[in-house]
Amino acid sequence: MTEVLPLEVDRAVKAFGDTVAVGGVTVSLDHREIIAVVGPSGCGKSTLLRAIGGLESLDDGSIRLAGLVVDDGDTRVPPERRSVGLVFQEHALFPHLTVHANVSFGLRGRPRAEVDDRVDEMLGVVSLAGYEGRYPHELSGGERQRVALARALAPSPALMLFDEPFASLDRNLRDELRRHVVSALRATGTAALIVTHDQHEALAIGDRVAVMRSGRLVQADSPDAVFHSPADEFVAAFLGEASFLPIENGDGTAVSVLGPVPGASSTTHRAMVRPDDIELTDEHEGVEGEITEVEYRGTHWFVDVRLDHGISVGALAPHLDRPEIGDRRRVRLVAGHAQVPVEPVD
Ligand code: ADP
Repeated sequence: MTEVLPLEVDRAVKAFGDTVAVGGVTVSLDHREIIAVVGPSGCGKSTLLRAIGGLESLDDGSIRLAGLVVDDGDTRVPPERRSVGLVFQEHALFPHLTVHANVSFGLRGRPRAEVDDRVDEMLGVVSLAGYEGRYPHELSGGERQRVALARALAPSPALMLFDEPFASLDRNLRDELRRHVVSALRATGTAALIVTHDQHEALAIGDRVAVMRSGRLVQADSPDAVFHSPADEFVAAFLGEASFLPIENGDGTAVSVLGPVPGASSTTHRAMVRPDDIELTDEHEGVEGEITEVEYRGTHWFVDVRLDHGISVGALAPHLDRPEIGDRRRVRLVAGHAQVPVEPVD
C-alpha cells in the first residue's frame, strides 16, 4: 500500500503571461513535517503556496492533499473544500466577532458542546486560554496572529500553509510567535509549509528547508545540510555569509589557500567557508592578510581579511580581541571545520 502523504506536488507549473512564477516544482511533505520555503523576492514562493491552497490554478503538473488530487488540469477543488489552513501576514480576523466566534468559524454546523471544546483546546494550544470573549481590537498584533493560527487549526486540516506569517511583527515578537507556531503544529501533529524570505527563520523553523530560485526548487534538505552542504553557490550565499576560495586540483588532491578540500571532485572549482570556520591566529601557521572590514556583532567581531593571494575571507574574532582595519593577521581553519566544495550556479 502506498502511504498517503499530507502534500504531494508533482512538476507544478504556473505562469503569469511571460513570467514563469513556478517552473516545475516537485516536493512532498511527510506526516507532521514542517517545511520552510525560502528564496529571494519574486522566486515563486507565494505562487507555489497559493496554488496548494487553491488560490491559483496550475498550468501543468498536479497537487495532492492527503492523497486526493486537488489540481491536475482537469480537477480543481476550490480552496474552501481543500483540507488546508491558511495563515497570512495580515491576520484576517473578523473585527466584529469575538475570539471564540473567530476560532469557531470553520466549525459551523457542529454541535455546540463540541465547538466549545475545540475552541478551548485550540486557544490552549496557542496559549490564549481565557481570551474567548475578547474582540480583535483588544489584542496585540502577536495575539491576533495566534488567534488566526487557532482558527486555521480548529478544523484539523491535513496541511497548514503560512505566507510570511511573521513579517508584520518586530524582531522579538517574531521569535516568540515562531515558537508558538512550532509548538502548536507539534501539539496538533499538523504538517505545514511556511513561506519566508528570511533565511534565519527558515533554518530555525523547518524540519526541512526548501530553497527556491527563479521558480525552481534548488535544494530541499535538513537545515544543517542546506547550510553546511549547499547544492550550489546560490544556496550557499543565500543562507548566510560565505566566502568562496578557488580550488587547485593536482595529483588527485584538491587544495585552496587554506589547505586540502575534502570531497572535491576534479571538476569542482571553488570551496565554501563560513565566518565561523575561520579564526585569526598570532601563530606562524595560517595565511597572512590584511583586515579590510570590521563589524561588531555583540558576541563576536566579523572581519573581512584580504589574503596576500588577493582573495578575501570573512572570519569571526572573539569579542575581547578587537581587530582594527589595516591590521596584518593570519587566518586558519578552526580545528574540526572543513572547506566545503560547491558547484557553480547553473
Ligand atoms: P515570491 O513569493 O517568492 O516573492 P511570487 O510567487 O509572489 O514570488 O512571484 C513570482 C513571480 O510571479 C514574480 O515575478 C511576480 O511578479 C509574478 N507574479 C506573482 N503573482 C502574479 C500575478 N497575479 N500576476 C502577474 N504576475 C504575478
